[in-house]
Formats: sequence, structure tokens, C-alpha cells
Amino acid sequence: MKKKCINDVPGESLKGKRVLVRVDFNVPLDKDRNITDDARIRASLPTIKYLIDKGSKVILISHLGRPEGKPNPHFSLDVVAERLSKLLDKEVMFLPDCIGREVKEKVETLKEGDVALLENLRFYKEEKENDEGFAKELASLADIYVNDAFAASHRKHASVVGVAKFLPAYAGFLVAKEIDVLSSLLESPKMPFMAILGGAKVSDKIGVIKNLMNKVTTILIGGGMSYTFLKSQGYEIGDSLLEEDKIEVAKEILLDAEKKGIKILLPLDIVVANKFAEDADSRIVDAKNMPEGWMGMDIGPKTIELFKGELKGAKTIFWNGPLGVFEMEKFSNGTNSIARFLGELDAITVIGGGDSASAVRKAGVADKMTHISTGGGASLEFLEKGTLPGIEVLEDK
Ligand code: AMP
Repeated sequence: MKKKCINDVPGESLKGKRVLVRVDFNVPLDKDRNITDDARIRASLPTIKYLIDKGSKVILISHLGRPEGKPNPHFSLDVVAERLSKLLDKEVMFLPDCIGREVKEKVETLKEGDVALLENLRFYKEEKENDEGFAKELASLADIYVNDAFAASHRKHASVVGVAKFLPAYAGFLVAKEIDVLSSLLESPKMPFMAILGGAKVSDKIGVIKNLMNKVTTILIGGGMSYTFLKSQGYEIGDSLLEEDKIEVAKEILLDAEKKGIKILLPLDIVVANKFAEDADSRIVDAKNMPEGWMGMDIGPKTIELFKGELKGAKTIFWNGPLGVFEMEKFSNGTNSIARFLGELDAITVIGGGDSASAVRKAGVADKMTHISTGGGASLEFLEKGTLPGIEVLEDK
């Protein structure tokens, strides 16, 4: 990695220092504010424990949910502080704000190895606006800044980009690992390298498809985005998801792939439904001729076989986006079958966060994957641009 990680900083220079760590504690909460999955908290434990061990005063900052720039008790990080305290088996000081005099005074009372978690950054609209004054306030709490929030590193927010202007900035272990794995996909993938792309929208994935086109041998396309590609070839897609304004781009991508000798596989057959619901009527149809009044919900059995046959030959696989509406049991077969199949392969398998990560967990093959990225949007943007705003601002090695 070309950026400095916290273990590139001599241990003595961390001792007694106030270290501001941007983490991603954006955990799912149920309506009673119980944390339903604490994976994001666990993911930053190595960085937090390392800093505790080195005698730093650890000041954690994060966002949670979308409070739209004003305080909202539902999105308080108080429940996260409680869970973190249990996971660390150590008291975590929770501060009910993230800037201001009171926060500063409390932070000053931290001793070596102590941990504090500040309140949700997004209670201030200045966070998303990357307001310089807000970033300066945050930075004034610390001597060193660490980014351990990969999933937020594509955001030009005050706590991700802004603070690094005022403090020496390093990667935490989570961010360092993400950079290493994703860079290796771009720089030295074991060939054949294949990408599976699904999810709802083509528009989110145009950039990554264009960049991956120079790296991969094959791109397998499924999910909602595949219908715009099918439409671009003049096929009937019934009432399936379509991005009218992306038909031309889809056509260009397919032509360009042909010129470059890259294989793009589109679905052969589709599970269609007569309404967007679990209890819909469904049937399997030819992907070139989907009936009117029916919408595509999943890839069909021939497509699953086609994809498996291709993936069998891969040495490296990147997957982002479900291949159907996998939240509905009835339309989860394509996504689950491919997830299980990846678990059987002897290849480097990198899962690009979000829904594909939950799919491999649900299929019980998470531990068989080489790497499951903690960032969906962030991993896509990294593969598109080779870096992210929150990584660019870190110190070079
Ligand atoms: P994305 O955030 O772009 O990765 O999209 C994820 C969403 O795409 C999931 O919520 C899926 O339900 C949805 N999706 C996948 N396939 C389809 C489809 N055929 N029709 C509608 N939505 C889909």
C-alpha cells in the first residue's frame, strides 16, 4: 500500500496522543433501537485495540443512519457505545455531542488507553457539506487522525476528508486491508479475472464496468441492471426495470467489449412475475422475449448454469449486486446459487459489500470468500478510480 497505516507510525509517537478515529458504526437498528448486526463495530476492533495497546487516547467518530443534519434520538450512537464497551470489555465514554466546549473538556480527561465515542456526526449538516470550520473543530480534539471507515471513504465529508487537512492522517487496519485487496484486483489479478455485476441500476455501475473492461476477461451481468442491456439489443423486456436514458451506453459497452475481446454474459432466461411481490405468479421465460405485463425478478436456471460454467474457469472473481430480488425468498434462487457456487471454487473471491455480502452470509459461505468488503459503494468506486477521496488525503509512505 502506498499510504501510511497506523503501524507505520513508531509506537512511541502514539503513546499519550489523542487519536481521532473515523469508524463506520452505521449499524442496522430495529424499531426498538436494538443492534441487529454488530459486524461493523467488530470490524474496527483491531484498530481500536492496537491504539489502546499503544497507550493512545482513542476518540471515535461515526455517522449512523440519515438524521438529515439535525439531532434525532433514534440515531444516537449511545447504543453503539454500550455494545463496543461489551466487545472491548472496557468502559467507553459516550459523549452526547461531537464538537463544542463540553466535548473538548471531557476529551481532555481521557487517560492513556481510554476510549471515547462521540455522538453522530450527521446531527450536523456541516458533516456532509465538508464544512471547513466543522472539520477544524473535530481536528482540534486530537493530535492524529486515523481513517478506519472504508465504507464512508468515497464520501467527501468533513470527518473523512476535511479533518485530514489539519492533522497527520493514517489508515486504520480495516482501510489498509481493503486498499491492499482491491488494489491487487486492479494491479495484479490472477487471470482469468471475472466480474459478476447485479443490483438494480446500470447507472451506478457504468464507471466500474468501463474501468474493469481493461482488466477482466469476462463480465457476467444479472439483476435489475441486465434488462437495460437486453433492451439495448432490441429484446422485449416486458415490464422489467429499465433505465431508458442508459440504453445507448449499454449498447456502447457491449460493442466496446466485443472490440476488446471481453466476454459479457447476459441472462439467457428470466424468472418473471406478474407483480412485485412474494406472492406473485411467476414463470420462466426466454430473456429475449419477456411477455408484456410481467417483470423480471431473477435469473433463470439456464443462466445459472451458464454463469457457473464460466466462473468455473476463473482464478479471480469480484462480485457486486444481487442477481435478482433476493430479499424475496421466491426470487432469491439465482443469487443464492451463485453465492454457494463461489464457496466451492478454488479462486480468489472478493465480494463488494452491501447486498452481495449479505447473500454470501445467508448462503453460509462467508468464511470461504477471500475478502468481503465492508463498503458497497466504496468498493465499486475504488475499482472505478483506483482510489477514494478519504484515502487520497492520507499520508504517503
Ligand atoms: P444495488 O443497490 O444497485 O446493488 O441494488 C440492489 C437491489 O437490486 C436489491 O434490493 C434487489 O432487490 C434489487 N434487484 C435485483 N434484481 C432486481 C430485479 N430483477 N428487479 C428489481 N430489483 C432488482
